[in-house]
Amino acid sequence: MTIEAHLLISWLSTVEVLKNRRERVLSTLAGVAPDLDGLGIVSDMITSTTNYYIEYHHYLGHSIFSAIIFASIASIFAKTQQLRVWILSFVVVHIHILCDIVGSKAPDGFHYPIYYLYPIDPNFSLIWEHQWELNSWQNIVIFVALLALSFFYLKRKRITFLEVISKRLNKVACRMYERYL
Ligand SMILES: [Zn+2]
Repeated sequence: MTIEAHLLISWLSTVEVLKNRRERVLSTLAGVAPDLDGLGIVSDMITSTTNYYIEYHHYLGHSIFSAIIFASIASIFAKTQQLRVWILSFVVVHIHILCDIVGSKAPDGFHYPIYYLYPIDPNFSLIWEHQWELNSWQNIVIFVALLALSFFYLKRKRITFLEVISKRLNKVACRMYERYL
């Protein structure tokens, strides 16, 4: 799925479980961190001589080992609820992996596998033959539902996913909601 969808899913998973913004942000970042392994695309586009995206995307960041690493980093930086942060971060990385298995087919029809045991077993991969495309209607419907749920939390708890970027941005969104809705 897209990085925006991963961010919303991860953030929404934290809202009822973690009390403070800092910990919610850390677990949300853990939930999008798997896609760091796709950053090689920048080098591929600039140099045209590397092929890092194909070589590493869905390998390095989408394994059980990276889930453990991301969860551990998030809980190290957490000031409260460290165990919850670890468990939740581990879970959101797996939700990310599941979403990629379900809805990340390339426009050319290529089914992106997930190398869940990389690098211990680079040949083991998870794939779903009915995987839908990244730009499919299913992903759009899910994204709209995620936005609706986010709006529900804005209304109910006065928090938004914008808190992942900055506290101030979150406040501005809440103020706009109170003024215009
Ligand atoms: Zn991913």
